[in-house]
Amino acid sequence: MDHLNPQRPPWKWIGIGLLCISVLLILSLRNRGGFFSFSHTEEPLVVISTGTVHAGDELSTILIGKGLKRQMVTNVESAFSKMYNLRLLKPGHTFEVITSTDGIFKQFLYHTDPINTYAVSLSTEGIFSQNKNQQKTVWMKKFVSGEVTESMYKSLLKQGYDRNFVDNLIVDVADNIFAWRIDFFTEQRPGDKYSVMMEQEFIVGSSTPLWNGRGKVLAASYIGKGTKRKENFAIRYQAPLADRADYYDLEGQAVRKAFLRAPFTQVNFRISSGYSSHRFHPILRVYRPHHGTDYAASIGTPVSSVGKGVVIFAGVKGGYGKCVEIRHNSKYVSRYGHLSRIGVRQGASVSQGGSIGNVGNSGLSTGPHLHFEMIVDGVSRNFLAMEFPAASAVSKANMTDFNAVRDRLIAELNAGPLASDKPSSTARSSAARATH
Ligand SMILES: [Zn+2]
Repeated sequence: MDHLNPQRPPWKWIGIGLLCISVLLILSLRNRGGFFSFSHTEEPLVVISTGTVHAGDELSTILIGKGLKRQMVTNVESAFSKMYNLRLLKPGHTFEVITSTDGIFKQFLYHTDPINTYAVSLSTEGIFSQNKNQQKTVWMKKFVSGEVTESMYKSLLKQGYDRNFVDNLIVDVADNIFAWRIDFFTEQRPGDKYSVMMEQEFIVGSSTPLWNGRGKVLAASYIGKGTKRKENFAIRYQAPLADRADYYDLEGQAVRKAFLRAPFTQVNFRISSGYSSHRFHPILRVYRPHHGTDYAASIGTPVSSVGKGVVIFAGVKGGYGKCVEIRHNSKYVSRYGHLSRIGVRQGASVSQGGSIGNVGNSGLSTGPHLHFEMIVDGVSRNFLAMEFPAASAVSKANMTDFNAVRDRLIAELNAGPLASDKPSSTARSSAARATH
């Protein structure tokens, strides 16, 4: 017989063996209703069901949606609420429900971000427990530098950086840090040079930076041909006892400037209507958004520009009546409406606190007031809720401390970028290199 011939492999028996295994597999699937369970004595493997919190979701609906029974939902909810405020479930948070292949609940994991996880576990003895786990992270330095071609933005993309990373870096460097010193709309020139030293956060052992690569900018420079100052530097510095860091130039002057808290330099005004997305318009008699702040003040009260800038509009503008618009930098434009008199001309420069006109009742207005708007990147924002930098210089007492930080950061900025910080494998290369 063939199979007894030692020269030939016993194909037939291998085939029969495979058939037996298949039958066993099918039987086990039928018996257990799950996969990969060969033995009843082993702990069945888990089934993980993942999800994302959507607006309006509650923990109970999430858990019921994952097939948990009422009583189990109540138990999980009660354990979970011991460590996490149920009202802080936020759209975008993710979760996992882990059950045995038998469908028995094992664990609920809730992730508020890539670092923090809240877990409710059910032991085989039927005991619920909860614990919070925070991943250990490290911050690592990264250098980005280049030469402006069309724009800093395009030059970064051309270097091969990921779009999310570039978007965030531009927001940080151009909008948040240098916006008060450099007008990126009009002052960028081919050949301008920029460099940025930042720190990115990584989960220990991971080579992908968290937060889409967005980190803390420690130092940045922009050497421009068309900028007001040729060399622009920003040093991140947190003074002792200060509650947050800010950016300063080499002399310790604040790089960012605050706006006035209100468009008046005298105090006889009050806010009569705030920013709202749904307000009954007294003249139009319809509900429409009020994207601004109304200040009640008597006719003729001088109106001040909340910041230094250039008048980009001065004239009559629809319902705003006599209106002035001032561009402060590439990010911020302020608008002043219902004026009785316009005191500036288009194209004029204004200083912070400088008079631009007087309170009136022009346009669609029911009484003397100033309509004030802050437009950020082309969109009206709630000025009263906006956070602005505390724009004071480093104090004399802290100058020695600041100078030491500045010298160290500038030396590092000038030493970078190293070859290993070049993009394409941005995350990997900088993760591999320890912070120096
Ligand atoms: Zn208004």
